[in-house]
Amino acid sequence: MNSSVFVNLGPRSYTVRVGGGLLAQLGALAHETLPERSSCAVLTDSNVAPLYAQTALESLRAAGKKPVLITVPAGEASKSLLVAQDVLGEMARAGLDRKSFLVALGGGVIGDLGGFCAAIYQRGIPYVQVPTTVLSQVDSSVGGKTGVNLPDAKNMVGSFHQPVLVLADTDTLKSLHKREFNEGFAEIIKHAGIRDAAMYDAIDEVADGRGDLAELIRRNIAIKARIVEEDEFETKGLRALLNYGHTLGHAIEAAAGYGQLLHGEAISLGLRAASWLSVRLGGLSMDSHARMMQLLKKFELPLVLGAEFEREELLRIARMDKKFEKGRIRFVLLHAAGDAYVSPDVTEADLAAALDELTRQPA
Ligand code: NAD
Ligand code: MG
Repeated sequence: MNSSVFVNLGPRSYTVRVGGGLLAQLGALAHETLPERSSCAVLTDSNVAPLYAQTALESLRAAGKKPVLITVPAGEASKSLLVAQDVLGEMARAGLDRKSFLVALGGGVIGDLGGFCAAIYQRGIPYVQVPTTVLSQVDSSVGGKTGVNLPDAKNMVGSFHQPVLVLADTDTLKSLHKREFNEGFAEIIKHAGIRDAAMYDAIDEVADGRGDLAELIRRNIAIKARIVEEDEFETKGLRALLNYGHTLGHAIEAAAGYGQLLHGEAISLGLRAASWLSVRLGGLSMDSHARMMQLLKKFELPLVLGAEFEREELLRIARMDKKFEKGRIRFVLLHAAGDAYVSPDVTEADLAAALDELTRQPA
């Protein structure tokens, strides 16, 4: 069963389809959206290529498209200007022009890199997202943020460029390693926390193997889509709510050394810290806090900060990342499950206390 979410952004609107078997329909669905275009690049990585590139290419050819396959090494290091240059060069050598399009087949790395290449190739060509990780299906494939990293700064270079179509084929999630499958649930649990308290039950059911994963993914895409619709270019503060758990989560991810903790694992720790601060400063109930912790635990996500992390180092990174003004920082908190807000006056002492709390076992 397929379902879909429409992302309403005026002339930049598009449909996100969710369900099993969508990869084999890539050609037909891309043709429906881009009937005039035939030459295209399928960008993927070295892990995804052996699993899914053949199906994608065959489906495109069957629909009369002329795809070339471009494979980059798997991993965050491919989100760089140097790799973007290689991809753009391959596109040029393959003779792609302004009438071509790109398909980003893979996780968030491929989506961000592919979207960025599509945004700048010949000043912009359309692209289709085919996200193959939980994280990219519920988060990065929707919203049009594309870009690459600089050697010392993540996501420093990029562009807003919305896809024309997103196909979230939930069958592709079956080949994910357990750790990578689980980390995506940190963002799902975050979405429930900021916008949809009732979703906690649906997450619980999926954790127990009784739930409908495709429906849960659709529900998360809808949450992301509604926020992006209201604040496409992150100018109104609403999109900032998606950063719940990310201020300290990013600091922990960076301090661990990128790749040591998966993003979702670092965010799990960031969520515990933000949720604990929400109890102290935002009026979140202890029950709500405990519910979120219990779900993170079910997906084997970490809740306790290892002894190798130094509080001062984490605060130093958070200070670089976020602007403190007069000792205060804008920080996303919850009043209640499903009700997030940006607090203008979280202090450095609050962050230090939350980091101390992270070293203790949760109640
Ligand atoms: P990823 O793309 O590196 O994928 C994780 C790993 O899983 C990789 O090794 C990949 O090769 C492998 N993989 C992908 N699909 C697979 C499948 N179906 N079966 C088996 N293996 C598979 O990482 P990710 O977690 O998907 O995305 C992280 C990236 O997303 C980061 O760069 C982050 O900055 C970005 N991001 C962007 C946005 C946005 O709005 N643009 C939002 C959140 C995150
Ligand atoms: Mg995130």
